[in-house]
Amino acid sequence: MYKCIHTRFDDKMPENDGVPIVLTASMIEMSDFNLNPFIAFSGGFPKFLVRKKLYPPVPFNPDGTAKFAPYGLRKVESLLIEEFGEENVVTVCPTNLHRFIGPKTKIVGISTMDPLGIGFVSRTYTSIFGINGKPATLVEFETLLSNPALRKYRAKIIVGGSGAWQISSANMQHELGIDTILIGQAEHSLIQIFRKALNGEKLDRVITMQIPEDKEIPAIKKPSIYGTVEITRGCGRGCAFCSPTLRQRYSLPLKHILKEVELNAKRGTRAILLQTDDVFLYKSKPNFIPSREAFVKLIQDIDKIKGVDYIQIAHASLAPVVYDRKIVEEIAPILVEKSLWRCNGKRCASIEVGIETGSVRLMEKYMRGKMLPYKPEQWQDIVVQSIGILNDNGVYPLATLILGLPGEQKEDILATINLLDRLKGAKILYVPLLFTSEEECILKRQKHKDLKNLDELHWEILARCGRHDINTWKPEINKIVMVGSLLSYSYYRWRHGKKIFTVIMKFSGLEAIFVNRKVGAGCQPKYCTLNLGHINNKAGK
Ligand code: SF4
Repeated sequence: MYKCIHTRFDDKMPENDGVPIVLTASMIEMSDFNLNPFIAFSGGFPKFLVRKKLYPPVPFNPDGTAKFAPYGLRKVESLLIEEFGEENVVTVCPTNLHRFIGPKTKIVGISTMDPLGIGFVSRTYTSIFGINGKPATLVEFETLLSNPALRKYRAKIIVGGSGAWQISSANMQHELGIDTILIGQAEHSLIQIFRKALNGEKLDRVITMQIPEDKEIPAIKKPSIYGTVEITRGCGRGCAFCSPTLRQRYSLPLKHILKEVELNAKRGTRAILLQTDDVFLYKSKPNFIPSREAFVKLIQDIDKIKGVDYIQIAHASLAPVVYDRKIVEEIAPILVEKSLWRCNGKRCASIEVGIETGSVRLMEKYMRGKMLPYKPEQWQDIVVQSIGILNDNGVYPLATLILGLPGEQKEDILATINLLDRLKGAKILYVPLLFTSEEECILKRQKHKDLKNLDELHWEILARCGRHDINTWKPEINKIVMVGSLLSYSYYRWRHGKKIFTVIMKFSGLEAIFVNRKVGAGCQPKYCTLNLGHINNKAGK
C-alpha cells in the first residue's frame, strides 16, 4: 500500500456522510495553468522546475465542488449523472476530497493523462533537465494517492483516463493502492463497471473497456478546464507511434458541439479549446480530404456564441493546409482575433502540428497516412509549404519532432536537419521529443529512445531547436540562457561526454557570437529574428 502522508484535513467529517461517487484528478491536472494549455506541457518537466504557482487549482463552487474539471472527467461525470442521479456524483479538487468522501462513498474515480510521467513530453524533458528529478505530474499523482481521505472509508479506488496504462505497465498498481485500472474509452462499459462496484461486487484489477459507438458519447453537463469541447475522436492516418490512430473515428454533430460550447461560455470558461487529433478530420471526405464548408461553419458558429473570448484548436495535420489553403485563409482571422497569444505585441494564433521527421524513408515506414492525399516523398515540401501558409495567416504552430524512431539511420537524421534548414526563419515553436513506445500504439513493443544513446546528430537537432525557439520567441532571455548553459556545462559533460561542448555552444548562442566575430558581423537581437520571406509558398489552390 502507498504510504499515507498526514494532512490537516484528517479529522473533518463530510456533510451528509459523503457522496457515493467522488471524481477527482491530481492538482496539476485540475489546473488550467492560468488559461495556458501550452504551459501545461511543463507538467512533464522535473518537479523542481515547476513551481506551484504555475498551476493554481481551478476555483470551487459555493458547495466545494470544482468549478471546472478535465474534459474526460466531465464526460464520465455526465454518464454517471444520467445513470445514478446528480445527487450521487461529485467532481472535486484533491484539496476538497475530505468534504465529500464519507461512510456513504463507494467509489473514488480518478482520471489521469500522465500519472507516472512517462509520456513523450515527460520522458524527454525530465531526462534533459533532470538530476534524477521526478516529473511534476508524477509527484502530484503520488500526492493525490497518498491523501488519507481516499482510504478512510474503504471506497474502491478506480483509475482511468488516457494515461492509466502507465500504472499497469509499470506494475505500480499495488504500490499506489489502486483497486481497478480502466483502459480505453468510457462510454460503453463504464456504467456496468460502476454499478458492480456500487453493489460491492469484486472487479478485475485491470479492465479494458469496449469501444463505444458515437451515439453513446454524451454532452458534458458542467464546464471543462480551458472550455474543452471535443469535435472529433480518433484519427486513422495510421502513424505507428500514436494511439488515437487506433480509435474509431467520429466527427461529433454540430448541435452537440455547440451545446457544449454554450455551456462552457455561460459558466465562465471564457476560452474554448477544440479537442481533436486533427481538426481537418472534422466531417472530412474520403482519403482525408478536408471539408471546407463544414469546418469554416463550425468555427464561425462558435465565434458567434456570447461569452467566447478565446478559441484555440488543439491539433492539426499539415497536408490539408496545402490541399486547401482557403480553409486557413477563412478561419485564421477568427483564430487570430480570438487568440490567447501575442507575438511582438500583435495577436497571433497557434496550433500543435506534427512534423516528426524529415526522412521520406521513415515517413513511408511509420507514417504513410500522415501526408495523404499526397505521397511520402512529398513530405518535406508539404511541411515547408504548410508552415508558410499558416505563418502568412498569422498562425505560428507548435511542432513536434520525434528523435530515435526505431531503425532511424544517420541519413534519416540528416534529412531532418535538412528540413530544419529549409524551415529557417519560420515562426514555429519546436518541441523535439524522444521516441516513446506508448501502450496503445502499433510500436508498443519497441524500445524507448533514451538521452544516453542519442546520436551526435540528434543532439545537434536538440541544440538547433532550442536556439531557434529562444531566438524566435524569447530573445530577451539570451543572457540568462548563456550563463545557465556555461554553469551547467560540467554536469552535462560528465553525463554525456565530449560531444556536449558543441551542443552547449550552439544552444547557448555562443557559437553564433564567435562565428559572427570571425566574419565581423555583430548580432543584435532586435534584428536577428529571421523573416519568412524565403519560404517558397506555392501551395495555393
Ligand atoms: S496524424 Fe497525428 S493523430 Fe493521426 S495517427 Fe498520425 S500522429 Fe496520430
